Amino acid sequence: MITTESAVGLVGFYVNGAWEKPQGRKGLAITNPATGAVLAEAPFAAAEDVDRAVRSAHEAFRKWRAVPVVDRVQVLYRFKALLEEHAAEVAAILTRENGKTADDSKMEVRRGIQMVEVACGMPSLMMGDALNDVAREIDCKSIRQPLGVCVGITPFNFPAMVPLWMYPFAIACGNTFVLKPSEKVPLTPTRVIELLAESGLPAGVLNLIHGGKETVDALLHHPLVKAVSFVGSTPVAKYIYSTSASEGKRVQALGGAKNHLVVMPDANLPKTVEAIIGSAFGAAGERCLAGSVLVPVGDAAGPLLDLLAQRTEALAVGDGSQAGIEMGPLVSAEHCRRVTGYIEKGVTEGATPLCDGRRYKSGSGGFFLGPTVFDHVTPEMTIAQEEIFGPVLCVIRVKTLDEAIALVNRSPYGNATSIFTSNGKAAREYSSRIEVGMVGVNVGIAAPMAFFPFTGWKNSFFGDLHAHGKDAVAFYTEQKVIMSRWF
Ligand code: NAD
Repeated sequence: MITTESAVGLVGFYVNGAWEKPQGRKGLAITNPATGAVLAEAPFAAAEDVDRAVRSAHEAFRKWRAVPVVDRVQVLYRFKALLEEHAAEVAAILTRENGKTADDSKMEVRRGIQMVEVACGMPSLMMGDALNDVAREIDCKSIRQPLGVCVGITPFNFPAMVPLWMYPFAIACGNTFVLKPSEKVPLTPTRVIELLAESGLPAGVLNLIHGGKETVDALLHHPLVKAVSFVGSTPVAKYIYSTSASEGKRVQALGGAKNHLVVMPDANLPKTVEAIIGSAFGAAGERCLAGSVLVPVGDAAGPLLDLLAQRTEALAVGDGSQAGIEMGPLVSAEHCRRVTGYIEKGVTEGATPLCDGRRYKSGSGGFFLGPTVFDHVTPEMTIAQEEIFGPVLCVIRVKTLDEAIALVNRSPYGNATSIFTSNGKAAREYSSRIEVGMVGVNVGIAAPMAFFPFTGWKNSFFGDLHAHGKDAVAFYTEQKVIMSRWF
């Protein structure tokens, strides 16, 4: 188990109920984004490792699917208790390898635990329908059965929560699972899987491997894999969707985002500004629900931008493990350079920086940028169109709500959006006409709870059934309809 900076070593695979430290694989150094210090090395699973993990899951499926669902969820009840007990420890690992603040990490772990709580209800969630005498002396019932080996491929920004969107639901339904978390942040999901293993899960039901594209490709092309759940950027989501579908697998692929925050002149100013700050700069903007385009309508812009600029300049940036820090570093030096490149592009394209994050200097060796706000952004600019995935907020001023709706609906993404107003009619109109899957009304981050699905639209989602909630039950099961007549 690697939980501290002094314990630099290989991050393990968990295959067929045993921890492995595979030697001789290429890998990636895992760094603490706040200091640049190397924490561990993640070995990348080769094709033979993938094959072992999938075969172990395939073998375990035969017995696991036959375990009554009420007994399967007992493992999840024990897992939830262990997660509660170790929540602070998991959150600390998360901050250390991802960089988000201690509060953000604690909140993420809490959201993950809520997934397990909902999956514990699988005996009710999996129930089918029944009707007697659908024809003379014939009864009919529908049941849900597990699919087999399911795979999860997850991103760097929610290493505790996003894997928990997947495998608690999958295994509660009777499937077995192979998880391939982001190679950038493998320590958190590895610690969480250690807790799952301690919960008494039979060998092979959950397998963990690490790696990048080659590992993912070996999973997508493996004939024993039945379903693929993916969360990550849009180009990779499209690739995962088309490759998995062409291999005949069930697939759900959640992609990137460009989320608009629309502010009406009648919005509650201080509360709206706090919500915008949390949405745009929480988790350093590395959130698929982050507000990245602010759309003040009519007269809203003046007072809103004054207060927003003041609050942005005062934001406490630093090592997320320290008390009072509101925004931590970005995940890697490479990502920090990429986001800086977008800020430079914004300046070149003629946007006006109200706050310029490049001014922030940490001196700690970490991957820091301060928060940036660009005013007078136009919809054609690169910074208005592409997902930046960093603490950069673009302001596009519009005259009317209709103009705001048209602007948001032209975006190729459709993950989340929010409207801030004290006018119920405007909020209702916006929620109804907007072509976006998750809508906040005076809520800056419209994240559905575990018992609702996570419903991105357009280029933010490829597939039919979304993550968690009732959709997860439908995704991880196949329906069967049985007609019976007894002589
Ligand atoms: P990413 O797409 O680079 O990586 C995601 C996963 O895909 C990782 O496990 C990675 O190893 C794998 N991968 C990367 N490139 C691949 C390739 N060419 N072929 C096969 N597999 C590949 O995403 P990221 O940078 O880790 O995460 C950030 C992105 O995830 C952002 O775009 C963000 O919006 C998105 N995201 C979306 C949601 C959502 O719910 N829609 C949630 C969180 C993050």
